[in-house]
Amino acid sequence: MRYAILSKGDAKSEALKHKMQTHMKDFKMIEDVENPEIVISVGGDGTLLQAFHQYSHMLAQCAFVGIHTGHLGFYADWLPHEVEKLIIEINNSEFQVIEYPLLEMIVRYNDKGYETRYLALNEATMKTENGTTLVVDLDIRGQHFERFRGDGLCISTPSGSTAYNKALGGALIHPSLEAIQIAEIASINNRVFRTVGSPLVLPKHHTCHVKPVNHDVILTTVDHVSVKHKNVNTIQYRVANEKIRFARFRPFPFWKRVHDSFISSGETL
Ligand code: NAP
Repeated sequence: MRYAILSKGDAKSEALKHKMQTHMKDFKMIEDVENPEIVISVGGDGTLLQAFHQYSHMLAQCAFVGIHTGHLGFYADWLPHEVEKLIIEINNSEFQVIEYPLLEMIVRYNDKGYETRYLALNEATMKTENGTTLVVDLDIRGQHFERFRGDGLCISTPSGSTAYNKALGGALIHPSLEAIQIAEIASINNRVFRTVGSPLVLPKHHTCHVKPVNHDVILTTVDHVSVKHKNVNTIQYRVANEKIRFARFRPFPFWKRVHDSFISSGETL
C-alpha cells in the first residue's frame, strides 16, 4: 500500500504524522507522495481540503482519510488515539470506498481564447474584489433566471453544505445526492431589485452560468483558495464528472456527523 500523509503543520499534527510514519514503516507500507493509493490528512477539515487540492489531478487513483487533531470534522473523523487501529485496518483490509460529488467551476474571459477550470470539494464563491455590490445575471439551463445584486454567491457541494453554505442559511444536503446548491450572500431586495431569496438546489444535469454586469475584476474562492479574474465573460457551475473517494473502515453516517457537530457530541441519534 502506497500512502501520503499531509499534516496541518502544528506540533500535535506533526507528532502524529511522525508516529504514523514509524508504524506504517513497520507494516512495510510505502510512503509515496507522488503516487499514493491512500492520502491521510492530519489536522482538520481545512487540512483535508488542502490534501484534496494537492491530489485533485489523480482522484480516480487515491482515496482520502482524515484524522482530526482539533474538533470533530466532516471529512476528518478519526481521532488521534485511533491511529494504530486505522493503520491495521489500512494494512489488512480491502477498504470500502465512498464517493462524494464535487463542484466544477469554469471561468471564461472576454479577451482570451482559453478558460480556466477548477474543482471544489466544499464550495466556490464569487464577489467583487473591493467588497462593493456584485451585479450578475444568472442563467439556469440556458434560461435567464434573475439579476442578482448583493455581496456575492456561494455555490456548494453536498459535503460542503455544512460549511460556508450553512452560515448563509443553505440546506444541509446528503452527499449521496449529486447536486449543487446556490446560496445568496446578502442580496439586495426591495421594490426595485428582486432575487428569489431562497437557496437553489440544482441536479447534475442542470448548469448555471453567471455573467458579471460591468465588473472588471471578479474575486472567486474555491474552498480555501482565492483567485482574482480580470475581464470575465461568464462563470459556469455544475456537478463535476469527477468525485472524491473516501476510504471507509467503519460506518459514520452523515446525519450522525451533523448531529455530533452541531447539536451534541455526547448523544447518539
Ligand atoms: P478556516 O477559517 O480554517 O475554516 C473555516 C471552518 O470551516 C473550520 O472550522 C473548518 O473546520 C470548517 N469546515 C471546513 N470544511 C467544512 C465542512 N465541509 N463542513 C463543516 N465545516 C467545515 O478556513 P479554511 O481552512 O481555509 O477553509 C476554507 C473553508 O472555510 C471554506 O471552504 C468555507 O466553507 C469555510 N468558510 C466558512 C465561512 C463561514 O462559515 N461563515 C466563511 C468563509 C469560509 P476545521 O477546523 O476542522 O478545519
